[in-house]
Amino acid sequence: MKAHSGEVGVFVRIRPTANFAQDLIQCLPDGQTVNVHHRKNSRKPLDTRKSHVSSWSFQLEGVLRDVSQEEFYTRVCRWVVLGALDGYNGTVMCFGQTGAGKTYTMTGSTESYKQRGIIPRALQEVFQEVEIRTEHAFNVYLSYLEIYNETLVDLLSSLQGSPRPSPHGMLVMEEPGRGVFVRGLSLHPVHSEEEALNLLFEGEMNRIIGSHALNRNSSRSHCIFTVHIEARSRTLTNAKYVTSKLNLVDLAGSERLGKTGSEGQMLKEAVYINRSLSFLEQAILALGDHRREHVPFRQSKLTHALKDSLGGNCNTVLVANICGEAAQIEETLSTLRFAGRMKCVRTDPVVNEHTDPAAQIKKLEKEVQKLKEELSISNTLVNRLESTYKPLSEAQQAEIHSQVQRYLEGSLEEINIISVRQIQAVFAQFKLAVQEQEQRVKAQLCQTHNLVVKDQSADTADVKECNTKDISEDVEAGRFEAPQSTKSAQRPSSTKAKTKKCREKQNQNKRQGDGSPVSRKRLESASRSKLSCVQAPEKEPEADTESQDTQESQLPGNAPLHPDSPPPKEEAFEEFKLGQGSKINSILKENKAVLLERRNLLRQLTEEVNAVKRDIDCTATVIQQHRELRGDQGQYLVMEGEPLLQEPDASLLMRLRDLKALYRQRYEVLRDIKAEVNYCQHLVDQCRVRLLSEFEIWYKKSFLVPEEELDVTMKKSLRQECLEGRLLPDNPSSESFYNARYRTMKRRDSRALGFTPVQRNSPGQRRFPPIPPVS
Ligand code: ADP
Ligand code: MG
Repeated sequence: MKAHSGEVGVFVRIRPTANFAQDLIQCLPDGQTVNVHHRKNSRKPLDTRKSHVSSWSFQLEGVLRDVSQEEFYTRVCRWVVLGALDGYNGTVMCFGQTGAGKTYTMTGSTESYKQRGIIPRALQEVFQEVEIRTEHAFNVYLSYLEIYNETLVDLLSSLQGSPRPSPHGMLVMEEPGRGVFVRGLSLHPVHSEEEALNLLFEGEMNRIIGSHALNRNSSRSHCIFTVHIEARSRTLTNAKYVTSKLNLVDLAGSERLGKTGSEGQMLKEAVYINRSLSFLEQAILALGDHRREHVPFRQSKLTHALKDSLGGNCNTVLVANICGEAAQIEETLSTLRFAGRMKCVRTDPVVNEHTDPAAQIKKLEKEVQKLKEELSISNTLVNRLESTYKPLSEAQQAEIHSQVQRYLEGSLEEINIISVRQIQAVFAQFKLAVQEQEQRVKAQLCQTHNLVVKDQSADTADVKECNTKDISEDVEAGRFEAPQSTKSAQRPSSTKAKTKKCREKQNQNKRQGDGSPVSRKRLESASRSKLSCVQAPEKEPEADTESQDTQESQLPGNAPLHPDSPPPKEEAFEEFKLGQGSKINSILKENKAVLLERRNLLRQLTEEVNAVKRDIDCTATVIQQHRELRGDQGQYLVMEGEPLLQEPDASLLMRLRDLKALYRQRYEVLRDIKAEVNYCQHLVDQCRVRLLSEFEIWYKKSFLVPEEELDVTMKKSLRQECLEGRLLPDNPSSESFYNARYRTMKRRDSRALGFTPVQRNSPGQRRFPPIPPVS
């Protein structure tokens, strides 16, 4: 028999007898065919005219008559046992009437070694192979199940060390990956043939033996002796291993009820046996019919327990045990028919390969270790000694943190890439730095905002500055909602008392030398260059006379007193603004007034645009609601191209269209005004810078240094500019270029006194377009 062929191997074994019915049973020389001639007896035995002879021919895998136990095993079972050692499930099943030799075939004589049956031979084979196949480590377990009257019995439960029987009894179960198994059935590890045979004999002893009319020792139960094999490779360190089950099944007698003459308990047994064998036959019929999808395995304990041993992934052999006597011819025919059906069943044997998760983890760990070693070797070869593939230690994390900080501060030029983990840690540090920065800025903004609000009661000028700035920032950020503080910006000027209080406070700050903490915070949050521009003149347009003190307080740091006692800078600045700086100061004021006007306009427009937007949203929502409502009620009917009903939202659609047009128009105007605000702001900033820088020159010239020294200072500053890279000379011949530039700058500075700043309507100056009236 070819191993793993996918066919159920069906063999007939004829029990030796002196009364072999040669005229009825004919074994052909091919060794595979058996013909049966059966004369159906008439009811009147002497009436030969009414007898009817029928003939059947059965072709099977082998017809074995007068064969020794050894030959039978070698021809029929050996390949199944060897297959089990390779990882294929295997089943050898003896079927036939009581006394036909099933138990003799399966277990054999327990007294005579020569006449031992399939089970002891299989056990011997298994342990011999275990010895031979040294490249694998085998684990062998045994179980012995008896099914008696649909009750599961563990024939090995009497053994020492067996688990106590479950209070719920045993149960045939199925699990994915595990297949069919009997819950509660004891599984005994065995390490030698002898150990295994001890268990077999123990089980035999426990078999329920019923007295019977035909054979007193015949079993009235189905017995399934299972050898569970697990094989792991000793040479390959992979996590794969194979398992198999070798089921050796001794079925109960298949004879008909009438013939046994059973009564009482015996009758009950016979009913159960017949029923379960009938279900076995049904299952086999279903398995043999490839059009059938469902096989009724669960109808009996026997078929359920043998579910994956009859067809499926298993090497299956059926032994049809028959008696050769004429008296048993009907049972013989019945058994051979069953064998014929079994022949139609096909199997698809596969090796039961599994992956051991624990072994898989071990294997992967080894592999990781090996890869790490390989990596470290290759790193050594390319001089990348710092590479690490372990999680970073706290010290390493701290080092990365410090590197990132130094990199952000600018003291570290670059961070060397060492490993992927290090890169990830660097990114994490950057993220952390950004988050911290965000928190700081947020906290600063909150603090600043609170204080500004508090200051509103004390210093209107401050509030105005803050609000106008807010608006400007909002517009720049594309937000059209007017800020909440707009109202407070429109409040009337503060009382004189309040202003005075504010002035006192500012003077106090000035005396302290570095301003209030708020000023400091605001100083930090704004860019330095911008801040220097925003200083002194910021409060001028609103504060007029009273703002003078404020301006003084915001002048660039107090100049050190000259030995000739030059006037304090604040005083000098006032003097400068009235005298030589009066022109640029008045232009600054003018530009600031325009800026304020534009900002107000921007605020107004922002409110309008927002109002239109709200209107659009509202109308769109109403239209949407109409549509949803209409969706529930069906479409509007259209008859001959004419709408049957006027859509109720037509007017709304028109309105929406108009609103959108208006929105676009207003938005465009808003955009222009925003650009103008930005431009005005730029002009104001320029004027401030100019006013301050000219004041500085004037102050130095008037009170601190003689003109020649100033020249040198300016020259120095120009050279410094060059050194800083802004005007780096390309080559030595560029000297004349820089000299010329220096002269130009000097000319510009000396003209500063007569400087003509940007005038609102001067030629070349951008003229602001008229704002269309808001409808
Ligand atoms: P079954 O289990 O089918 O009821 P048994 O295996 O108990 O039948 O066989 C009944 C009797 O026939 C036993 O005494 C057994 O020794 C004998 N017998 C069966 N088959 C053979 C055989 N091939 N050679 C010798 N004796 C046999
Ligand atoms: Mg028997």
